[in-house]
Amino acid sequence: MQQPYLSIVVPVYNEETNLGPLMERLYPAVQGTGKSFEIIFTNDGSRDRSLEILRRMVRDYPGVKVLEFNGNFGQHMAILAAFEMSGGQIVITLDADLQNPPEEIPRLVAEIEKGHDVVGTSRRKRQDTLFRRLASRIVNITTNKMTGMHMKDYGCMLRAYHRDIIENINRCQETTTFIPALAQTFCSNPVEIEVAHAERAAGESKYSLYKLVRLNFDLMTGFSVVPLQLFALFGILTSLLSLAFALFLLVRRFIVGAEVEGVFTLFAILFFFIGIIILGIGIVGEYVGRIYQEVRKRPRFVVRKTYGFEE
Ligand code: UDP
Ligand code: MG
Repeated sequence: MQQPYLSIVVPVYNEETNLGPLMERLYPAVQGTGKSFEIIFTNDGSRDRSLEILRRMVRDYPGVKVLEFNGNFGQHMAILAAFEMSGGQIVITLDADLQNPPEEIPRLVAEIEKGHDVVGTSRRKRQDTLFRRLASRIVNITTNKMTGMHMKDYGCMLRAYHRDIIENINRCQETTTFIPALAQTFCSNPVEIEVAHAERAAGESKYSLYKLVRLNFDLMTGFSVVPLQLFALFGILTSLLSLAFALFLLVRRFIVGAEVEGVFTLFAILFFFIGIIILGIGIVGEYVGRIYQEVRKRPRFVVRKTYGFEE
């Protein structure tokens, strides 16, 4: 079977109201490039009519394919599964909620054809709540610092990858991951362009505060051991400081006598260190938890059925 030139990958979780409008803009945009293409949707265990709509699309639009997951495995697993099934020389990911305008696709393709192996995007005038923008800001800065990578915007999922990058990503078997950062570790000539960003067309964001915090832990601990190292350094620093403090108290005892009033100051300091210890155990726990997940070697996702791949 001949492989298409472009593979468009879209994760879908409860997006019944968005799929129709998405297809109306995505299909002409991809056709407009004049290249052969496939559009792979992964239905990530939607509980609404998404799957039904997608199956109809497989019938009505040539080149549309659907992977049906057995349950909800998360946005990144949905994309990875589609990567494994994709055949395009250029693979482009995008969200189903129309926050990433499909009209930008030709620009991404052009950048890859110029010789870049990863095209990232940053959101011009991002249309999200202040809270989400602030959270992303912190993530972008800390991630860049900790991983030594340079990207303005890790959150924007409208991205293009060259086949070589996809092959490398497909070789990774980790269960918790963050695709833009993973791709960044394999690329040699990345570029980042600005794209427009829209408000979510309909429905609500699938990321609660809890899921966001989890995702950031994935990003932090999945790509570096810096949190562990920082923690060890901080431990050394605090013990040096408390040693100095103890010396000071000793000297003070000889000059002004025993200190009694300061008991509560000591308590405060003590609780501060207890907090640090708990945090440290938490960080170590994150890594241990991950090691546990990896050694179990469970399948990362389960595809129940595929539509449109057979021919
Ligand atoms: N998504 C998914 N599985 C999930 C959560 C999200 O496949 O468990 C998809 C969702 O359908 C959308 C994309 O991932 O196409 C981004 O999700 P969302 O728009 O909710 O994230 P946000 O834009 O708020 O970061
Ligand atoms: Mg969105």
